[in-house]
Amino acid sequence: MQKATVVVIGGGATGVGILRDLCMRGVDAILIEQQDLAYGTSSRYHGLLHSGGRYAVKDAEAGKECIEENTILRKIGRHCVEQTEGFFARTHLDDEDFEGKWVEACAKVGIPTIPISVEEARRLEPNLSAKIKSVYRVPDAAIDGFRMVWQNVASARKYGGRVMTYTTVVGIEHSNNQVVGMKVKNTLTGEVSNIACDFIVSAAGSWAGEIAALAGITVNVQPDRGTLIAFNHRIASRIINRLRPASDGDIFVPHGSITILGTTSASVDKPDDTIPNAKEVVELLNIGEALFEDLRSYRMLRAFAGTRPLYSADPNAKGRGASRGFVTLDHAHDGLKGFVSVVGGKFTTYRLMAEKVTDLVCNYLNVKTPCRTALEDLVDDASPALMAKARLYFPAYGAELAASRLGSEGLEKVIDRMQAKPEKRQLLCECENVTMAEVEEAAADSTSFMISDVRRKTRMGMGTCQGAFCTFRSVGAVDANGLSWGKDTNVLFKEFLQGRWKGIRPILWGNVMREMELTRGIYEGTLNINGAIDDEGK
Ligand SMILES: Cc1cc2nc3c(=O)[nH]c(=O)nc-3n(C[C@H](O)[C@H](O)[C@H](O)COP(=O)(O)OP(=O)(O)OC[C@H]3O[C@@H](n4cnc5c(N)ncnc54)[C@H](O)[C@@H]3O)c2cc1C
Repeated sequence: MQKATVVVIGGGATGVGILRDLCMRGVDAILIEQQDLAYGTSSRYHGLLHSGGRYAVKDAEAGKECIEENTILRKIGRHCVEQTEGFFARTHLDDEDFEGKWVEACAKVGIPTIPISVEEARRLEPNLSAKIKSVYRVPDAAIDGFRMVWQNVASARKYGGRVMTYTTVVGIEHSNNQVVGMKVKNTLTGEVSNIACDFIVSAAGSWAGEIAALAGITVNVQPDRGTLIAFNHRIASRIINRLRPASDGDIFVPHGSITILGTTSASVDKPDDTIPNAKEVVELLNIGEALFEDLRSYRMLRAFAGTRPLYSADPNAKGRGASRGFVTLDHAHDGLKGFVSVVGGKFTTYRLMAEKVTDLVCNYLNVKTPCRTALEDLVDDASPALMAKARLYFPAYGAELAASRLGSEGLEKVIDRMQAKPEKRQLLCECENVTMAEVEEAAADSTSFMISDVRRKTRMGMGTCQGAFCTFRSVGAVDANGLSWGKDTNVLFKEFLQGRWKGIRPILWGNVMREMELTRGIYEGTLNINGAIDDEGK
């Protein structure tokens, strides 16, 4: 039986942040995630490292938390952050009176807002609508959710942290009103086992209500679905927010070579109700045109959705009416000692949430070591010597990209693979510059069980071709190296392509339809994928 002092439930930003914090303070901890890391909302979001501007008027405390954490994450997580800055732009449709209130509210919580002329804003961002009325610069940034989650895990592992993916918590065990362990089920094999522990922290986001219910406790988390669109262009170099009270479709975030537009807001019954629909896509395009008039002419890559974990002590509060703040719930007050839930909040504030909950747990465990997560970088910078070596092996600018994805240690391992076998330098994913060596390294990690797990670690398949070309290459490479997790290659193909298809289906018109026909030609016409799999998936 596995044993740990603390078990953290949930492999999103909050859970990995807590694991890292606990391990850095010397607490023996293990993290349990039902799917892959960052499977939940931590990868189904805009990727905006908020300056706090969006919250300043309605929720000053959230605005203050954002600007403080924004400053910290730019430093400790700099390999995951693109320092784009942001604009808040008021369109011809937005209330002029709100502008003054917003400037004042930002100043109160310490968010710098610098007004610039519309001409200057359009010189810097030529695609912005000519109908914009006023623009302010703010310290927003873009943040890569997958990478941030992985780098927290890399850091936690250095301090002894353990991670079990594809493991679902199905029961909470207690004796004399004190937690003594939990029952978990392997999501892939169905095998059930026990983990003994003194403390459980639920960081299960939108699923936090379901976890609490396992112990007979009520936690009101209302999952609220937001749909987003990824475009195949950098429509702007900066984050563009609409200057109006927070509403649908008012944020554009550039990431690498793409842009994400979001989001909608709709209460849903289940946390994993994350399949977007065409109606939501059209709604977002209609609203987004106020900031970018030519929006409909830009090529879409896919649509995706996540559920916000909106917590409310009032079970009737819903959607944008519910608080975006976070709470730490000590269930000792509900009669069960050794069980804490942390709910609500934002990706931007994950580290702070982790610090607060770890303080609480350490207090119970009588651990006096203070939090250091704001002081220590997530991963080390690659040294100039290592970068010089990397440039000998990586194609073009791929060395810098790989260094920021992998950190110093990971980069060294990938270079070793390339040194041993130079053919591993080959690019399997041109869109995201991912080499065969990096795909193999990600596939060999103990938390990888399918090609989508490799995608989340490397970004392979997330660019322009959406897997059309990199799927057959990566499946071939993984299989040829004996890393295919005992699965038939047709099963690997199907799992990966189905995942991509979910996001393409709601935007299936125009050029996307043409591209899909090409993908279909490759996989059905040439490789006969559907014909090769029978009804039982064999
Ligand atoms: C559309 C949208 C856009 C957003 N945009 C932004 C933004 O731009 N910036 C920002 O700062 N915030 C944004 N947010 C909010 C932010 O994404 C979330 O607050 C944050 O990612 C939540 O992280 P988490 O770790 O708490 O939850 P999650 O990432 O959802 O992690 C919870 C994990 O628990 C796991 N789990 C659940 N049940 C079990 C079980 N029984 N056993 C084991 N594991 C389990 C799940 O699989 C999941 O991986 C956005 C949210 C949405 C929905």
